[in-house]
Amino acid sequence: MKRILVVLIFAGLCNKALAQINPEKAKTGEIIELLFPEGKSKALILSYDDGRTEDRQLVQLMNKYALKGTFHLNSNKLGSEGYLNRSEIKALFIGHEVSVHSANHPPLTRLSKIDIVYEVVEDRKELERLMGYPVRGMAYPFGNHNDTVVDVIKGLGIEYARTVNDTYAFQIPDNFLKWHPTVHQFAKAFWEPNNPENDKKELARFYQLVHEFINTKDLALFDLWGHSWEMANDKAKWEETEKTFQSLAKQSSVHYTTHIDLVDYLKAFQQLQFSVDKQMVFNPSASTVYFKKSGKQYSVMSGKTIHL
Ligand SMILES: [Zn+2]
Repeated sequence: MKRILVVLIFAGLCNKALAQINPEKAKTGEIIELLFPEGKSKALILSYDDGRTEDRQLVQLMNKYALKGTFHLNSNKLGSEGYLNRSEIKALFIGHEVSVHSANHPPLTRLSKIDIVYEVVEDRKELERLMGYPVRGMAYPFGNHNDTVVDVIKGLGIEYARTVNDTYAFQIPDNFLKWHPTVHQFAKAFWEPNNPENDKKELARFYQLVHEFINTKDLALFDLWGHSWEMANDKAKWEETEKTFQSLAKQSSVHYTTHIDLVDYLKAFQQLQFSVDKQMVFNPSASTVYFKKSGKQYSVMSGKTIHL
């Protein structure tokens, strides 16, 4: 007991002595917190799969509300009945992102590695030819993935791959190649035909989530996914879509982004190089990066070092 007391007194004296030597001791306990571009605390991704003709109406609606979409297309299906034409996608998706959904939409987990490579690379190559830029993202067909699929796509220039495992939460995924979205559009409403009770319950659940996102003061990412063909010719479902977009649009705290732009930004944040005492930071990336330290907001431009 006596010995412990002596050690404690000695440790206390040492701390005191250190503080005297360096009164402005580095406060390394301060946490660096991510902010989205322009210092915003929230980000929204709208992610739609399959490239069916109903995408035309959906894009029109997104444009009306100044929203950005990410569209995952199957290039071998383009031009066939019910799908978009090759010749229209470049103009249609101006201001939005076009991304891989495999060439033919097979369940990738049932394929051999060479066929997974083919499905992803062929789709990338054809979409790049049509769009005129490197296509670097993906959504798994049917959301179907396992560790083998993830390992194979790692070498194919894919920066993120979205699943269909809804989290009902607003966190940023740790593993970009197992990117679990927040929620399917309208949650699980309309999944079963002729079940209005369930539709009502699921719609309420969905709008509750939208409401939580709009009102939270925390860092939040809302990643909404679905298919334009789910609305088909149903006026009521298109009205629900418009209601959703209207609620999410024009929020000053929300950064509206495509999936790949967000991934590039998150990678730029991860690349920030802080000094040990967190008084300096160097940004080697191509983007201006925003963050908070001790409640104060900072931005550091591409290639610059700033003092905090
Ligand atoms: Zn699909």
